[in-house]
Amino acid sequence: LRDRGWPEAWTRTTCPYCGVGCEMDVGTRGGRIVTVRPSREGPSNRGHLCSKGRYAFGFGEAPDRVTVPMLREDGGWRRASWDEALDFVATRLRRLREAHGPDALAMLGSARATNEENYLAQKLARVVLGTNNVDCCARVCHAPSAAALKAMLGTGAATNSFEDVEHARTLLVAGSNTTECHPVVGARIKQAALRGAKLIVIDSRRTELARYADVHLQPRAGTDVPLLNALAHVVVTEGLTDEAYLRERVDAVEDFRAFIRDWTPERAARLCGVDAEAIRRAARLYATHGPSMMVHGLGMTEHVQGTESVMTLVNLALLTGNLGKPGTGVNPMRGQNNVQGSAHMGCEPGHLTGYAPLEANRARFEAAWGEPLPSSAGMDLMAMMDAAHEGRLKALWAFGYDVLLTNPTARTTREALERLDLVVVQDLFLTETARACGHVFLPASTSFEKDGTFMNGERRVQRVRRALAPVGESLPDWEILCRAARALGHPEGFSFQSPEEVWDEVRRVWPAGAGLSYARLEAGGLQWPCPDETHPGTRVLHTHGFAGGPRAALRRIDYTPSPEARTEERPFVLVTGRRLYQFNAGTMTMRTPHAALQPEDWLDMAPADAERLGLEDGVRVRVRSRHGEAVLRVRRAEGVRPGELFTTFHTPEVFINAVIGPQQDGYTRTPEYKVTAVQVERAESR
Ligand code: SF4
Repeated sequence: LRDRGWPEAWTRTTCPYCGVGCEMDVGTRGGRIVTVRPSREGPSNRGHLCSKGRYAFGFGEAPDRVTVPMLREDGGWRRASWDEALDFVATRLRRLREAHGPDALAMLGSARATNEENYLAQKLARVVLGTNNVDCCARVCHAPSAAALKAMLGTGAATNSFEDVEHARTLLVAGSNTTECHPVVGARIKQAALRGAKLIVIDSRRTELARYADVHLQPRAGTDVPLLNALAHVVVTEGLTDEAYLRERVDAVEDFRAFIRDWTPERAARLCGVDAEAIRRAARLYATHGPSMMVHGLGMTEHVQGTESVMTLVNLALLTGNLGKPGTGVNPMRGQNNVQGSAHMGCEPGHLTGYAPLEANRARFEAAWGEPLPSSAGMDLMAMMDAAHEGRLKALWAFGYDVLLTNPTARTTREALERLDLVVVQDLFLTETARACGHVFLPASTSFEKDGTFMNGERRVQRVRRALAPVGESLPDWEILCRAARALGHPEGFSFQSPEEVWDEVRRVWPAGAGLSYARLEAGGLQWPCPDETHPGTRVLHTHGFAGGPRAALRRIDYTPSPEARTEERPFVLVTGRRLYQFNAGTMTMRTPHAALQPEDWLDMAPADAERLGLEDGVRVRVRSRHGEAVLRVRRAEGVRPGELFTTFHTPEVFINAVIGPQQDGYTRTPEYKVTAVQVERAESR
């Protein structure tokens, strides 16, 4: 503040980083953000922010921010006007559609963008481009959670709220490094444990939360299904089920009891490398010391059995009746500020706004939009990359998502993108995707420069408010999309004058969100379902029945090992994730002072392994899988299991996704970022 001056104005908005959705007051002076302070009224943060929300706000001022439209020319970029850039996009898209059909075009929505913008993106893809080829970054994170929760409970979202952490007597945190990835909720969990709540942590690493745990189960990466089945076995065989709940609300109980008999803790212990007695202790605690609440992260979902891992969590909650009450439930920690919203607005090939299945809701949306919807099934992000590689996809429009830096199999992803005739990048910076393969760059505004809403990980819709004017010629994504639709000769349905007008249309096509007017959101965020303007919003789902009917059913889930088995040649399993001071592909945090706190990706290795390989801290190593390689520094980390490694995907310098393979979750095609067999060798001489 000494350098920047005292704020002249304060604007309340929502954090642009993780899915906790902390409310913050942004202090501005002279067209710059000078400080950020937490909102005391924010229901998910109550006066707290983590260091990212509090200090990593300066990315909009980064010197490499691109604030003018640009076209690729002679291998470089040249400045263009908005009209020229949008005309270029429209002309190319029209030509490609005429030559190859609408399904040669695809759109990627963004967790960085607002609900209104994601709604417009999928509407543009469907009614202007004529394709269901629309997806978003939920594909690479919690699509398995949404799929599992939708399939078993009827609603693809967290069942409870962050405040339920304070109502639970037992917390089961599975595959979530909450204190680093969702720090404000992580702090609430630590506080709950310090106040006496029991804490069970399931994580292949000894995370910070594991230090507070009554039981830490540290399974081998990729063995969550056997472990959770063994917990269910203990619950069933020791008579710890909630029989009244099972009678009233749950089907397939006897079939499940027969199935789970074989999943003894001893069998799981052999597969997972954990102590069978610890499994029993955890199961007894979860089942008998309720209410018990589950919180899970990408450690559950980014596996070949990602969806089924979440289903095994739901099985446990159903068996013990830990659903539909305060302090219970199955709660995915959504990674990005609006990843719940981007998928929920319809940026998914098979779902329309409100996570409404496409075919069952086709007629309703055709009537609302006055347009026929495309008949083809649509491709998800992974299928888009396959199609691009095979020459079936010709154009990709990606906003707020660095495909090249984020997707697995970076080499094949780059080849796929290079084969496209048109790559439109709509972003703040020249991302790796733009640099490598972009043809047009459309400069977008940051969330501090626009209005709209985000949806956090507990289904809460919160206002995003403009604190600054868009920088340079940049525009909010909603305006870019509306102008693009008009350039494509389709002004009908895209003549909105404000995000609020877009949101009012969203409320008309999404019955569970009808009550979430801007006027009501002014007073604070509300959780859906909220079907009318007198409804208070819904803190706990499934209190009486489920969205799909009065009863849910248990599922038999067998174990499918990852194809990435360790071998003599590749004796380590690599797990990737995030750290406290950086965020995902680093696009924003790397351009703030946080870059100094964690300037590079490094490789965590168990001390015994480092000793055996003769690797000192800080030495550069080459990590090589069947799919690619990366070079980074090694660091001894007590919390890593021997034989496993951990690193992050924050920097293009390391490009760790070059090492990750093509294996995917069987239901949602979410990549298996958490299990890759690798070898490690010193990359520099002593
Ligand atoms: Fe932002 Fe998440 Fe930190 Fe809250 S916990 S300040 S939402 S990054």
